[in-house]
Amino acid sequence: MKIDLSPLLGGETDEILVDYPLTINAEFYGVTFPKPVRVLGTVRNNAGYIALKVRAEIFYDTVCDRCLRPIAGHFSLDFERPVTLPNVLMNEDQDDYLIAENRMLELDELLLESVILEFPTKHLCRKDCKGLCARCGKDLNEGPCGCVLREIDPRMAGFAKLLEKDRNQ
Ligand SMILES: [Zn+2]
Ligand SMILES: [Zn+2]
Repeated sequence: MKIDLSPLLGGETDEILVDYPLTINAEFYGVTFPKPVRVLGTVRNNAGYIALKVRAEIFYDTVCDRCLRPIAGHFSLDFERPVTLPNVLMNEDQDDYLIAENRMLELDELLLESVILEFPTKHLCRKDCKGLCARCGKDLNEGPCGCVLREIDPRMAGFAKLLEKDRNQ
């Protein structure tokens, strides 16, 4: 989305409302985005100091890191940056600024970068998810699988096998 800052720069208004859906088509690390990111905020001109302030609401689908159950996640991102026109500031001063080329502010790429940078790295279906058994793949949230005994001590393996035989009879 390109935001035209002309009314702000021309003094017709001191605030432009930003409210638009940002579609993310990318899929990364098994994460997909079922609906567009909602970007909501303002660009404000405060006595010549122009600043963008938006919040992005991100909804995504992924799977639990431990048990692979599908989960729907959500987080929000606050994004606040001063805005300036090209060639107004010395190069070394403009790092923090968004530059409005031709009085237009281009947000999508910046927001996408932030979404990726701030993306949660842990996804659990619940805090105490027990995960899958590394040996038999059973979902341990549904109960123990019986592999644990055999894992305790290799010297007990023969004994454990006997037990299992017993149990299966
Ligand atoms: Zn889980
Ligand atoms: Zn198991």
